[in-house]
Amino acid sequence: MKALGPIPPEFSAIDGELAIGGRRASALVKEAGDTPLFVYSREIIEHQIAGLRKVMPERLNIHYAMKANPYGPLLEFLADLVDGLDIASSGELEQAREAGYLPREISFAGPGKRDRELWAAIRAGVTLNIESENEAQRALQMGKELGVIPRMAIRVNPTFELRGSGMKMGGGAKPFGVDADRVPDLARRIVDAGANWRGFHIYSGSQALDAEALIEAQGHVLDLAAQLARDAGVEVPHLNMGGGFGIPYFDKDRPLDITAIGAALAQRFAALPEVLEKTKFAIELGRYLVGEAGVYLTRIVDRKESHGTTYLITDGGLHHQLAASGNFGTVVRRNYPAAIVTRFDDEPEEVVNVVGCLCTPLDRLADAAHLPRAEVGDLVAIFCAGAYGASASPATFLGQGAAREMLV
Ligand SMILES: *Cc1c(COP(=O)(O)O)cnc(C)c1O
Repeated sequence: MKALGPIPPEFSAIDGELAIGGRRASALVKEAGDTPLFVYSREIIEHQIAGLRKVMPERLNIHYAMKANPYGPLLEFLADLVDGLDIASSGELEQAREAGYLPREISFAGPGKRDRELWAAIRAGVTLNIESENEAQRALQMGKELGVIPRMAIRVNPTFELRGSGMKMGGGAKPFGVDADRVPDLARRIVDAGANWRGFHIYSGSQALDAEALIEAQGHVLDLAAQLARDAGVEVPHLNMGGGFGIPYFDKDRPLDITAIGAALAQRFAALPEVLEKTKFAIELGRYLVGEAGVYLTRIVDRKESHGTTYLITDGGLHHQLAASGNFGTVVRRNYPAAIVTRFDDEPEEVVNVVGCLCTPLDRLADAAHLPRAEVGDLVAIFCAGAYGASASPATFLGQGAAREMLV
């Protein structure tokens, strides 16, 4: 038997059946028309953001990193709840504009921005988080050609990384950002060229559950930003401090202590160096805002035995939930939280392997999971499906196609 991850505490049952947003999961599937279905809860997203606002210094803006979940209705819903949006392509820019975000609330990072993407972003008035000297040059040139003053910040490849981070994105050689030692020169060049200088973007990692590690990283970010600004002799109108706030996916994961992070940040904000006194600060979060609010619902198509192992075979799989299958940046596969929808409150009775419908042994949703008995036709819920699910999985693999999505 292998443990399942912790079901987010906001979920409960109606007459023993999993409810999302106050409605039974089976009713939501009926409304959507079919499984597999991602359901995202407004209530949980709101709760998560309100919890953050309560403990973070008021001065800290909260941005949404839309690559976590670009579903249109969810993006629209978030527009009123966050202070800014971080995008990583001109495709995301279009989706963001459709969802009602203003260009001045949007910043665009990404190591391979094509000319037409830079063009679209500059013309719209989006802030570019510049990832190389070459990109800076191209953006400045395009600004001239367009007759638009580009809004430019520099994404810094920091000299440190977030301890315990799920995905390391800082420290040492990286395709992301400009190495810290080259940033002062580039910052001066951007300012001298007459761009609308916005400041720095320093992102050091993701999926951290250790508050001390995040506090340490944020401290380093503030120190580095101040140092770079002094070395360059430039101001820092805006500092995107990165994010990295994790959520509990697996057994023994503990929720992040955001109160401790908020308190430490408030202390730092109360004693800022002069170069950062007028700076506006933001953090950029993806999974922390939306990850726990999503549930992936899939139906059992077959139930069979093989050499003493019971398989529940579903109509879903890694083509929608690559991360839950253990194939999205994890070294050792562990079980996401999962449940049998109609028996949400029941005690587990049997050990089963829940798998997807794809012809590959990689398509696993829950290994040796201890669950109530389930039959063909029952629904399985995989939790923590609100981030890096639908849009981060190979939906066309094996001709399957996209899952349905719904915001409730
Ligand atoms: C992916 C990414 C994020 C969001 O990461 P989460 O772990 O979902 O919070 C934020 N900033 C940058 C630069 C990213 O690449």
